[in-house]
Amino acid sequence: AEEALRQSQKLEAVGRLTGGVAHDFNNLLMVVSSAADMLQRSDDPKRREALIAGMRQAVERGSGLTRQLLAFSRRKPLKSAVVDVGEQVERMRILLERSLREDIRVSIDVQRPLRPVELDVGELELALLNLAVNARDAMPDGGELTITVFSEPTNDERICIRVADTGVGMSPAVQSRVFEPFFTTKEVGRGTGLGLSQVYGFARSSGGDVTVQSEEGRGAVFTLCLPTTDKALAAEVSAAPPAAPRAR
Ligand code: ADP
Repeated sequence: AEEALRQSQKLEAVGRLTGGVAHDFNNLLMVVSSAADMLQRSDDPKRREALIAGMRQAVERGSGLTRQLLAFSRRKPLKSAVVDVGEQVERMRILLERSLREDIRVSIDVQRPLRPVELDVGELELALLNLAVNARDAMPDGGELTITVFSEPTNDERICIRVADTGVGMSPAVQSRVFEPFFTTKEVGRGTGLGLSQVYGFARSSGGDVTVQSEEGRGAVFTLCLPTTDKALAAEVSAAPPAAPRAR
């Protein structure tokens, strides 16, 4: 869970970078362009040296920026484990509450029985955090965040996590774009537009999907559904105490 928090902070930092990157890039290009102009007009060898050094520096900074962007877009391989999704969500309670505000009430409802799901636990934690942080941002005056884990009624081969808030909601136009990378309605520096694309990428790479339902002024509901597996739960997760020796 600590790792998920660290990862989401990193994601946010990289996101801030991408938000400001176009601006920074433009400034660097301006530096190069005006240095080139001055270079053309100057005969002083010392001055020309300094201008060239300045251009090199700007170019290096520019390629540093693109390197960081590329590092972000590179997908790391999934580390899959067979888990009980309900248990994973319950484990996140403290972290979720800490990521929200005091005026937001969190309730978690796990409807058992649930079949096991094979997924990357780190990605699941990140997805839940991203959904919770969005819900928080959508409820500036407080509200309720309700997380429900259930077996899909029509098809018990999938386990779903429903994350519902009582926030500002979204127009149909916004709803149709929320999963796009870099789509955000938040001001520069606050939104990265990467949260829901992580959720979408996680859902798809796990063989599931994620949908949104919302009405302006009436909150939003995100539903993440994942396929179940016949494999046995990972030992670490199903750590049942050893059976007591039978009395004779
Ligand atoms: P970010 O949060 O950085 O903007 P996301 O990909 O997480 O990026 O979300 C994209 C956009 O979707 C948000 O800017 C917001 O407009 C909308 N959105 C996401 N979650 C909610 C929500 N729970 N309620 C209202 N709007 C939301």
